Amino acid sequence: MKRLNRWREADINRKLLARVIVLSRAVAERLGRVPVFMEVCGTHTVAISRTGLRNLLSGHMELRSGPGCPVCVTDAGDIEQMIMLARVPEVTVTTFGDMMRVPGHAASLEEERARGAQVQVVYSPADAVELAEAQPDRQVVFLGVGFETTAPTVAVALSRAVEKKLPNFSIYSAHKIVPPVMRVLLQDPDLAVDGFILPGHVCAVTGRAPFDFIAGEFGLPAVITGFEPLDILSSVYRLLEQILSGEPLVTNGYTRVVRETGNREARAVMNRYFKPVDASWRGFGTVPGSGLQLRDRFRDYDAACRFHLPAPVYTVRAGCRCGDLLRGKITPRQCPLFAAACTPARPVGPCMVSSEGACAAYYQYERNNS
Ligand code: SF4
Repeated sequence: MKRLNRWREADINRKLLARVIVLSRAVAERLGRVPVFMEVCGTHTVAISRTGLRNLLSGHMELRSGPGCPVCVTDAGDIEQMIMLARVPEVTVTTFGDMMRVPGHAASLEEERARGAQVQVVYSPADAVELAEAQPDRQVVFLGVGFETTAPTVAVALSRAVEKKLPNFSIYSAHKIVPPVMRVLLQDPDLAVDGFILPGHVCAVTGRAPFDFIAGEFGLPAVITGFEPLDILSSVYRLLEQILSGEPLVTNGYTRVVRETGNREARAVMNRYFKPVDASWRGFGTVPGSGLQLRDRFRDYDAACRFHLPAPVYTVRAGCRCGDLLRGKITPRQCPLFAAACTPARPVGPCMVSSEGACAAYYQYERNNS
């Protein structure tokens, strides 16, 4: 605890902040503009908003959000399929709470529940397995949404269902893996980003190596980052140093949690049950090798196969710019609907719904900043 508190000490933060500002001036002089750094993790987005870091650093650098919120990047087609599942009379859909209010084409899961669909919020995939055991007359479907951090826990829950030969449990897998979408992001010639704040939780599973291409192929620095203000400031400092040195690297600034090689056990259980497939991301379209589908031998537990879902018909809601936001093209305030037609009470897009969504974070912590 003593060690963790050190990462929150105001005095250290102030001193480092002053050094970051000095360095950012030197970088701005070099670039002819302020540097732009992107965080690719919803928890970072919230931490940067909540602690006021974006505001403190504005004028010296821009901190921009990318595709780091798993609920937000879930494709509109997947949302429609989930809603179709909720409409099947014998199905109980189980999900993390953030998914409930994501607007679909005509309704959200919450609205479907109000119309009589069986939709239940769970705190872990293991709860969904327990529910299937307790209610053998219902088909229990767990909506798998999340990155490399979440997929291993879903795999463990599935292993229990397989062990118990539960015939009434299945998973709708919309899991995603992060490095492939970062490659697509970096291939965008209009992407104006000078470095990345990498997701500490995801890297705790993957390790550093899957992100090395950011420096190796695209010549940009990136730092694996923790979630305290000092973690984020330290990473920004490292990014600035690397820009000045002209030697971009992918480094680990979160060594108290992230091992160089990540978590082999978590990857092993994930790979036992899931295989990489092409997947659709909101704002990006199909990204090769970026999704996780149940392996063929576990096909019986795949809700999309079990319920023969038809191809979804969907449109993104009029005016919704979540896709542009997730690709780093705009900030929440640049969406004309922000805090007007789109609010947490009446969300138009998922970025205003999820607790890790950039629009929700800006709305809660930054909407009164100039
Ligand atoms: S304000 Fe609403 S519609 Fe606009 S980008 Fe944010 S969530 Fe999407």
